[in-house]
Amino acid sequence: MDSADLQALRTAIRCVPDYPKPGILFRDITTLLGNAPMFQLAVAELSRPWADRQIGHVAGIEARGFILGGAVAHRVGAGFIPIRKKGKLPHETVRVAYSLEYGLDEMEMHRDAIEPGEQVLLIDDLIATGGTAEAAVKLLRGLGAEILAACFVIDLPELGGARRLQALDVPVHSLVAFQGQ
Ligand code: AMP
Repeated sequence: MDSADLQALRTAIRCVPDYPKPGILFRDITTLLGNAPMFQLAVAELSRPWADRQIGHVAGIEARGFILGGAVAHRVGAGFIPIRKKGKLPHETVRVAYSLEYGLDEMEMHRDAIEPGEQVLLIDDLIATGGTAEAAVKLLRGLGAEILAACFVIDLPELGGARRLQALDVPVHSLVAFQGQ
């Protein structure tokens, strides 16, 4: 991506201080999604490294990962898998617990969503501590997926999420990085 496109993407992301609580600078991608050229650019750049690869499925993490992951899946010619908060999927699921800042949460996917050995791309809007993406990696690998990469529009490198995934041998691709939390 050239530097003008990169700058345009950065500018399209709205920063909301003290949301959802004091001290958090929320990186709001609704402004990017609502801007057609920027949405197209983000999806094109997330998809570009995989143009010549055989992707079995793209897995997106609820909820913003559904919007981006669905568009990337369409572009790379793969099916889409939703990774959801617990209790939302109707068929037989596999579940993993993961820690949030306060307490635990759980995410699920359908047990029959992938075939063992499939190449899967994982997509979310943002990686911070990496706890959410790590849980998704565990779910997918538990069903035999080979994770080609985890892809994000935004990385907050100071929070160490990319390093955490790389330590699990998951390559990480992100489009823009912001300093701080
Ligand atoms: P983490 O598990 O710490 O990597 O957090 C990643 C998840 O939390 C992603 O699904 C993000 O959408 C959300 N998230 C964490 N921090 C922020 C932030 N500063 N702005 C927007 N979303 C965030």
